Amino acid sequence: IRSKLPEASPSIFAQMTQLAHQHDALNLSQGFPSFPASQELKELASQAIIDNNNQYAPMMGVPVLRVAISQMFEEQHKAFYHPQEEICVTAGATQGIFTAIQATIFKGDEMIIFTPAYDCYEPAIKIAGGIPVKIPMQLPEFTIDWEQVRSSVSTKTKMILINSPHNPSGKLLTHKDMLELENIAVQNDLIVLSDEVYEHMIFDGREHLSASRYPALKERSFITGSFGKTFHVTGWKTGFCLAPQPLMKEFLKIHQQVVFCVNNPMQQAVATYLQSPKHYQELGKFYQRKRDLFLNLIKNSKFKFKPTESTYFQLLDYSAVTDDGDIAFAKALTIDHKLASIPISVFMEGRDPKMLRFCFAKEDEELVAAAKILNEL
Ligand code: PMP
Ligand code: GLN
Repeated sequence: IRSKLPEASPSIFAQMTQLAHQHDALNLSQGFPSFPASQELKELASQAIIDNNNQYAPMMGVPVLRVAISQMFEEQHKAFYHPQEEICVTAGATQGIFTAIQATIFKGDEMIIFTPAYDCYEPAIKIAGGIPVKIPMQLPEFTIDWEQVRSSVSTKTKMILINSPHNPSGKLLTHKDMLELENIAVQNDLIVLSDEVYEHMIFDGREHLSASRYPALKERSFITGSFGKTFHVTGWKTGFCLAPQPLMKEFLKIHQQVVFCVNNPMQQAVATYLQSPKHYQELGKFYQRKRDLFLNLIKNSKFKFKPTESTYFQLLDYSAVTDDGDIAFAKALTIDHKLASIPISVFMEGRDPKMLRFCFAKEDEELVAAAKILNEL
């Protein structure tokens, strides 16, 4: 059978998680929390099922959840999204990203993405018949060269995708970055897809500058979010997409055909939980403590690092440990030393800055055990 994605293979997250299981290794590879979600949230979900919220939800999502998402954006970014017209609940951010791309990219359209890029962007563009235009972020700081972006824009460019907070580097776009983006998008009439799934995991007093804060960007942007990340329930695959009405109208035409609607009881639970802003406001502090615990324990190891600005990922530079490429080293670390991580060259066209990504959304004891392994190398 002719393949639409001939080069596709199981994701690096699945591969490394499987390798971790095979070798009984500590799994700091795939990004998911190892600790349980809050009892309150789990009880809300159980209650939603017992209360018979078990049939199809409205296509755009249950109204209370859309209102709660709208309130969160007002609270966090002073940005208004109309709950009935501009907010759609999705099956994780992945479906929001896929749907936004299918809704806007036509055959031959170019879409700019920055590498390292999260693995679901490029296939979604190709399935739509579009052409991914990959711009490498500048190392070692993972910054964007906006002049290079300007020179990469062609008459075929339709959309530009940003991911801040950034997976895997934890880099946050600055106000200056956002103004550059806004300027380029407006001048060239581009749509923006802003993947903001780690929006609440921000450290050291920094700020997440959502595309929704910039009016000229907001009016041409899709924004995707994920309750899996925010509430430690990646398996619930519950997220959202925001967009101004003309973009959302097209998004919904595709959404209706892809999933029609998202599972109902989890939406009810998330809606109630989201109404207490403290649940997401405390996430930065929660993960910053885990980051600092982990980094303090390895500060005298051979691994070099800059504390991550955001997300639950920390990059460690292992160049003082071995000359091996990152894939080989990540495998050896898993098999021989029982610690799994993610090699990042797979997200950046084989460029290999000799860094591995470690997810610190783990129990403290697991972070201590991981640090012990790293200190012995
Ligand atoms: N975007 C980025 C940058 C991510 O890291 C992830 C999850 N790893 C997603 C999107 C997908 O989120 P979800 O699990 O809600 O589909
Ligand atoms: N987003 C997760 C990560 O970056 C992986 C999710 C997945 O396995 N698709 O690790």
